[in-house]
Amino acid sequence: MTDLTKRKKKRKKLLKSKKAGAIAGLIVCLILISLIVGMFFLMSSMTGQLQIDTRLTGEIDKAAYIARTYATVSGKKESYYVLDQCGMSYILTDENDQYIRQQGEDTRGKRHSTYLLTTSASNDDDKLTDGELLNRYTYEIIDDKKSYIVRPAGDGDDIELDDMELIKHMFQNFDKLYEDEEIQTDVSVTAGEGSSGEEKGFSSGFANGFKDGFEGKNNEELDRISKVATLKNDRSFMQMPIWVKIEIPDKGQIVYFRLMVTTRMKDLIGIFVMLILFAAIIGLIMLTFFIIFIRGLLRARKMRNLLFTDIKVDGHNWLWFVYYAENKLSRRVNAKKDFALIDLEFVGYRRFCACNSVDEGEAKLVEVYNTLKRYVNKKELFAHCSEDSFALLLDFTDVESFRQRIGVILGALSEIEKGSSLAFHAGIYPIKALEKGESFSMRKNEDIEKDFNNACAACASMAGSESSGYALYDDKLIEDQRWIETVSQKQQKALDNEEFLVYYQPKYDPRSHELRGAEALIRWQSPEHGFLSPYKFIPIFESNGFITEIDHYMISHVARDQKRWLDAGMKCVPVSVNVSRAHFIESDLAEQIRDIVDKEGAPHHLIEIELTESAFFDDKNAMVETISRLKSYGFAVSMDDFGSGYSSLNSLKDMPLDVLKLDAEFFRGEAADTERGEVVVSEAIKLAKSLNMRTVAEGVEIKEQVDFLAAQGCDMIQGYYFAKPMPAQDYEQRMITGRSDGGQ
Ligand code: C2E
Ligand code: CA
Ligand code: CA
Repeated sequence: MTDLTKRKKKRKKLLKSKKAGAIAGLIVCLILISLIVGMFFLMSSMTGQLQIDTRLTGEIDKAAYIARTYATVSGKKESYYVLDQCGMSYILTDENDQYIRQQGEDTRGKRHSTYLLTTSASNDDDKLTDGELLNRYTYEIIDDKKSYIVRPAGDGDDIELDDMELIKHMFQNFDKLYEDEEIQTDVSVTAGEGSSGEEKGFSSGFANGFKDGFEGKNNEELDRISKVATLKNDRSFMQMPIWVKIEIPDKGQIVYFRLMVTTRMKDLIGIFVMLILFAAIIGLIMLTFFIIFIRGLLRARKMRNLLFTDIKVDGHNWLWFVYYAENKLSRRVNAKKDFALIDLEFVGYRRFCACNSVDEGEAKLVEVYNTLKRYVNKKELFAHCSEDSFALLLDFTDVESFRQRIGVILGALSEIEKGSSLAFHAGIYPIKALEKGESFSMRKNEDIEKDFNNACAACASMAGSESSGYALYDDKLIEDQRWIETVSQKQQKALDNEEFLVYYQPKYDPRSHELRGAEALIRWQSPEHGFLSPYKFIPIFESNGFITEIDHYMISHVARDQKRWLDAGMKCVPVSVNVSRAHFIESDLAEQIRDIVDKEGAPHHLIEIELTESAFFDDKNAMVETISRLKSYGFAVSMDDFGSGYSSLNSLKDMPLDVLKLDAEFFRGEAADTERGEVVVSEAIKLAKSLNMRTVAEGVEIKEQVDFLAAQGCDMIQGYYFAKPMPAQDYEQRMITGRSDGGQ
């Protein structure tokens, strides 16, 4: 995996994790809520069930005693008396379910409970075992057809309710239950009139009564004991009737008792209080999680804002741009428009900050951002991506209208600074909309950084230009950029290894054909890239500043050669060296040159300094100063490429120059052969002469031109007609001969 892919993955993960955090919080919250609600229902049903089961066991105990008593005395006269006096509705059937005896209404439901209670009838079994009693019974629970019965507070009648109504009722009476201090806690029964009002728990009361009645065979007492148990507090309770089926073994009889599972409202209070407490805890937990979730959301939002905000312009940053641009481009199938990815650079931003202040520079960036806001549509994207550059993703319809649009944007930007206009470069990389069916991976692998790099390359192609402009990307541009990169990387090593060679191109007198001088021209003998012309690397050195090193290198090598030739007793002529404009603005240039030449020990009059015409547009006073100083040290100074650009005759008048080099353009193309062309050349020569300057005609290739220049009084000719630039050894031969033999 490449570093870029890794970086992209990391970035995506980071952006996703912010969302995932919020989503995970929500999911955890939901899971917890459902867990808690589930637990709530489970607990309430379990507690309710427990309550009912406890009550039911008591009731079954009661029925068991009666059944046992009946079984014991069955067949005797008083046997039915036991059942009749039990105070419950009951049904006695034979094995075939034929009624033998019945008391109360038969409200047995059809559905039998699916579970069997096989509890031992009582803890008192031991006491009752004399072989006649049954030790164990099987109890089958049968639903009652009737619904719940609720007895409201006061002396009201019983109300029969269905489940929902029951619940409603319970809640309605709940408040009252709390207020009523007289409500008693236990479900207790009063053991008839003769019990002197003594209260006993039902089971024990009935059990004792039964024991007494049975042992003493005291029917009256039995009767008394088995009187209907009445609830002491008959207010606000609910009853759930059920039937219990008990088989009387050996007798082939089945007895059904109708039992009431009675739950007092008061008993429910505990459950309700517990559930309310539970609900409160749940509420609290949920509230806590809700707060955590909301805080998480807010934090994620804050993080996202931080991650996507550029503090300098208080707007979108590069990360934001990459995220949304990739999103947009990955959805570009069948898009109606193409796209243009733009690297917009503030030309000379650092210089602006240096001349004004960093604060003012940053204020300008904000203005640029706000201006872009006005010119970029809602669906298009833009962001501040680095110190002096902005990234834009605009819709692109056709080249012409897009050029116009960019022109308008650049115009608006350059007007930000009142008075002095700012400059901006826009490097444009067009991205095509995809046709339907075009590779999915093509969209998925959209690499916005790589695309933006291309826009930057387009922008870099304008480096050096100080005015606003734009450049469209093409493949050649990338090649150029790569070459610039290669050269910049290798330049220092090449200099250290002396890969740069000095070639000499002789200058001859057009009349006598005698050698009058030469120009030193650089060549690069690169082990990797072969023999390179200066056009391939000098412009790069000029823009990256390495040119000053090259100029020094050339001057010192030329001085060294001159010294060597002098020492060898050869007749040396002045050799001109090119000094770039970037170098010429250094205030101590004259001294630097003097020191280099002196170091090699060459006489100053054998070195001439060539300045290009464009250099003359810089600070005129400083130029005059440097030229004068060079001259005072004995160096001749020439103006190179005269006539190639916007020549300023005025500056020519003010500069104390020695030589005027007529640009090769004068002798190339159709203009060269016209009468007008000849007039210009002859006038230029006259002008130079009147200013006491010698003239050199460059790029002269044909005899007619040599003759014409000779007739016009041109002092020297540097051109292929006489000689091409050559290695030092070849030039030495030319020095020895001292004369040209004419054309090549
Ligand atoms: P320049 O200073 O104007 O050099 C003259 C260029 O014209 C040389 O190209 C030379 O080979 C070419 N030339 C001379 N006579 C003829 C001719 O009859 N026909 C044609 N077609 N060309 C002719 P070169 O050597 O390729 O240099 C190109 C440019 O590179 C130079 O233009 C100069 O601006 C720059 N340069 C070369 N060497 C150096 C250097 O050492 N330092 C600096 N700063 N610039 C250099
Ligand atoms: Ca030159
Ligand atoms: Ca030239």
